[in-house]
Amino acid sequence: MLIDLRSDTVTKPTKGMLEAMMHAKVGDDVFREDETVNKLEQRVAKMFGKPKALFFPSGTMANQTALKLHTSPGEQVICDKYAHIYNYESGGVAFNSGASCKLIDGNSGMFTAEQVKEAINPGDYWYAPSSLVAVENTTNKGGGACWNFDELLKIRNVCNDSYLGLHLDGARLWNALVAKNEPASQYGAIFNTISVCLSKGLGCPVGSVLVGDEDLMKNALRIRKVFGGNMRQAGYLAAAGLYALDNHIERLAEDHKKAKEIGEVLSQLSIIKTVEPIETNIVIFELNNDINENVFVQKLADKNIHIISMGSNKLRMVTHLDYTDAMHDIILSYLKDM
Ligand SMILES: *Cc1c(COP(=O)(O)O)cnc(C)c1O
Repeated sequence: MLIDLRSDTVTKPTKGMLEAMMHAKVGDDVFREDETVNKLEQRVAKMFGKPKALFFPSGTMANQTALKLHTSPGEQVICDKYAHIYNYESGGVAFNSGASCKLIDGNSGMFTAEQVKEAINPGDYWYAPSSLVAVENTTNKGGGACWNFDELLKIRNVCNDSYLGLHLDGARLWNALVAKNEPASQYGAIFNTISVCLSKGLGCPVGSVLVGDEDLMKNALRIRKVFGGNMRQAGYLAAAGLYALDNHIERLAEDHKKAKEIGEVLSQLSIIKTVEPIETNIVIFELNNDINENVFVQKLADKNIHIISMGSNKLRMVTHLDYTDAMHDIILSYLKDM
């Protein structure tokens, strides 16, 4: 049996999801005539209490569109040094928006309102104007950590005081909502724009949604078109999203439970230096210096267990919809015997 713990993006659509996709009512979404896409956008907008939502082929494009909507060339985006928008979007901040990033040296991908204040450039003309703060929840490189909502409220106040926009990269926000038992609307109330992925924990083959304020989102359709992201009968994909919102949110708690159980076993192993705190579905652990990460990854691969290296002798495992109880039993007993 092949066990793939590299990412929660490796899932394949379930039978129920495929069924929903097959029966989708579709139309030309460039003419805004795909009723399933419209339904998905309205549904996600309503969940977050935002007036507008737009369906995207990827989380990267949703984030990049948000960055473009919030910034003008030469401006600066404040984010954590671990941020996906900075590390894993191919330099898109500069390429698409002509903006730079001011990196905060945060904790597991999270930072404080105080650190945001310090990162804002003074108004003198020789500085890059700070225009946006970007937050990630849960943090990817930070090991699936969830933000403390009180800190986000404080960051909102700092943004208000300094006329900064506030964007949430919520690729795995669903995991945070389940782990912390929070409503989506609470996030919609303080962020100007939020991107969420349907293709991670929710198990869809494709898709992300960007929600936002009316004035900001006015230009979102055009930016998506410029990025080449307009789709035609995308309702087949949106139907997967609607199905996932109905069926795959609460079950994320199972992924979180399995991740914690893996973490407990790993923390007992003498070859492992540390296991980072596990709040959701991501397990990041560091090997002792005398064990090479590539050798370790290969050793597991020889047993049909696939995980990925994060560099610096750190490794990552991610639990997901296609990681079954049977696979979990195999992993736990294999790790226990290492
Ligand atoms: C996966 C991910 C994205 C978007 O990724 P796509 O592969 O483009 O859908 C954005 N932010 C974070 C934190 C992610 O984990």
